[in-house]
Parts: sequence; structure tokens; C-alpha cells
Amino acid sequence: MFTIGQQEIDAVAEVINTRKLFRYADLEAGRAYACESRMKEILGCNESLLVTSGTAALICGLVGLGIGPGDEVIVPAYTWLASAGAVLAVGAIPVLADVDETLTLDPADFERRIGPRTKAVIPVHMAGRPSDMDRILEVAKARGIAVLEDSCQAVGGSYKGRYLATIGDAGAFSFNVYKNISCGEGGALLTNDRRIYERALYYHDMGSAFRGHTLSEPEFLGNTYRMNEIQSAVLYVQLGRLEGILAQLRERRNWIQDAILAADAPLTLSPSADIAGDCGVHVSFLFETGEARIRFCERAAELGCKLSSPIDSGKHVYTNWTTLLERKVGVHPKMNPFLWPENQECRIAELTPECCPRTLDLLTRTATVGVGFDQTREACEAVAEILCRTAREIAGNG
Ligand SMILES: *Cc1c(COP(=O)(O)O)cnc(C)c1O
Repeated sequence: MFTIGQQEIDAVAEVINTRKLFRYADLEAGRAYACESRMKEILGCNESLLVTSGTAALICGLVGLGIGPGDEVIVPAYTWLASAGAVLAVGAIPVLADVDETLTLDPADFERRIGPRTKAVIPVHMAGRPSDMDRILEVAKARGIAVLEDSCQAVGGSYKGRYLATIGDAGAFSFNVYKNISCGEGGALLTNDRRIYERALYYHDMGSAFRGHTLSEPEFLGNTYRMNEIQSAVLYVQLGRLEGILAQLRERRNWIQDAILAADAPLTLSPSADIAGDCGVHVSFLFETGEARIRFCERAAELGCKLSSPIDSGKHVYTNWTTLLERKVGVHPKMNPFLWPENQECRIAELTPECCPRTLDLLTRTATVGVGFDQTREACEAVAEILCRTAREIAGNG
């Protein structure tokens, strides 16, 4: 959440005054419906469904794709735990793949890790960085693998002019408080595929087919991830702010990045699959070794600029997914997909702390500086100045 204020307060008050807090009190009159329509307009996709979280959006997407026990889903080793957790939530098995220097799924490693049971891949646009969707789609299409984009950290980001979450078969947004826009907690599933949408619609509302929707998919019992009108009122205002938030972030990202490039300092910016579409949440640097990265961060901190490394980002690094690595899922032993007979031919044994060494190496060698959404130009250039000075000092010519 980058900004929130009086407009959101007014929008919530308005909903409370109507006394209609349930989104399906009127099928097409409420704020939830308005948010879905607005997202379709902004993103240029056919279907959108608001749900209670980004995780719920991923689960609904997997259900919509028909993923379940006996299936494997490829997930990058650097993402929030929920990308892999959603796969287990539908009874399937996650297979981890390395990221590349962009810190998003390495298309070559994705291809290498495909097995006979691989049914889907979840490219994750981490920290607003777009994944290499051309190459991922090329591999996925050739092998008949579905693509579910985890765009939870990249709401409003794009790749080669197309919005993230609308490029693959389906995509997920999160609106929790850490994301580009927020309504406290929330998420959305985006797709151009009517079948995925209808299945997700049933699933997110306990299989309800009686609300008056016009649906052609067969009905089935699901779960409950319905969004409410209060949060939708906040989200509708936030959707109006999205373009401005991204413009502000990207402008400041460019101020920092351009100053560094202009200074020609011995500092390597992390590559991007499409810098124009990157949300501008961070500027990242790649170092030769982990030691070099630590040394750089220590000296920059002394000079007044705090960087962080993705290796220290807790449950975003697969080696910290203890419950998953220890196969602890659910309470009842028969509710653990790792133990199901259907999944015994899946590559469960490959889920170890050693499975993605390249990811660990790259995360250790990367440092990032956060972009302040309302930072002044002077402050951005001061950050760039410290980074350049640090790099020159360490290189021994400053
Ligand atoms: C935040 C996030 C999610 C899950 O979103 P919630 O709304 O917290 O459920 C999934 N994937 C990634 C990459 C995320 O950052």
C-alpha cells in the first residue's frame, strides 16, 4: 500500500450508509462488480473475479485450470511461500525451478524441470519485475503446459506492452498491505478464458450457481473466498490511483538508475525482462560474489544508504519454507497431498534445500534499494551518489 486517504474513507462511509455489505445483494450494482469491470477495462482482459486474497486467486486459478492430485506445477524458488502453498491446496505437487539474474523464473530451467506430470507453471513477477513471458509461453505452449501468472507483487506492471496477469492462461493479483494498491486484504483472478472464470466463480462461492449468473460450466461444490462491499469500495478508489502510483515509482526508479548510469560507476544493475513494464518498486544490483555484495552493503550503510539482499527476505526464499520442505501440510494425516497415492509418481523427493543452488547464489549476490514512492529528486540522486561512491571506493579508484 503506497497511499490511502480521505477518498477511501468516503467510499467506505457511502457503502455503510447503503446497508448493503454483501456483494451479491445486487448481482451487478455493487462496488465489487464495479471493481471487476474497472479491472477488465484497465487490463483489457475478458474476465475478472475479486476474491479474499492473492492466495485465494492462485487457488481459484488452479481449480479453474483443472489442476489436482497427480499433477505437478512448476514454481520459482524465489517467491512468497503462497505460490507453492496454493499448489498443495488443490492437492497437486510443486516442483521448484531456479530464477535467473532478473530474479524471476529462468525459462531454460523451467524447461529442464518439466516432467511427464507437469501440468502448469506459475511464473512470479517478483517485486514488480516482469518475467520473460515470451520464452516462458513458448516453452509452455510447445509442451501443453498451462501458465498461471503470479502477479501479486506486480499489479499494474506490464511486459512488452501487455499487462501482467493477462498474458498467460490466467493471472493472480493480491491487494494485501504490502502490494502496489491495497484494500487491507484481497485478490483477483484475471483471465480471457471463460471456462477458467466460471469454474473459479463457482469455487470461490461454495459452488453457488443460484445467484443469477449466466454460466455454462457444470456446477460443483467449492470453498468460500467472496469479497465484500466495504473492501471493494476501498479497492475501487485504489484502482483509480494505480496509474499515478506506478508513474511516481517509475519516475523515481529512473532518477536513481539514470544517475548511476550517467556516473559510469563500476556497479552492475540487475537485468530486466522489460524495464519499461517493471513497476519500479526497487533498483537491484548484481555482484560477482556474495562477499562483494556484503562488503558493498556495509560501506553504503556507513555512508547513509541502506540496501537489502533478497537472500535475507525470509519466507520468499525456498530454503526457509520449512513446513513445505518437511512435508507438513494440514492436520489430518490423510489431508496431506505429499502422502496421497496419486502423488507418489510426482517428484516429491526433489523438494530439498539443495534443489535450486543457482537461485541461492543469485539472491546472495543481489542487493536492492527500495524506491520511495514520494521521495524527492534530490533524495533519489543522493542515493545514487552514495551507491556510486561506494562502488568506486571498493574498486579502488574513488
Ligand atoms: C503477496 C503474495 C501472494 C499472496 O497474496 P496474499 O494476498 O497475501 O494471499 C502470492 N504470491 C506472491 C509472490 C506474493 O507476494
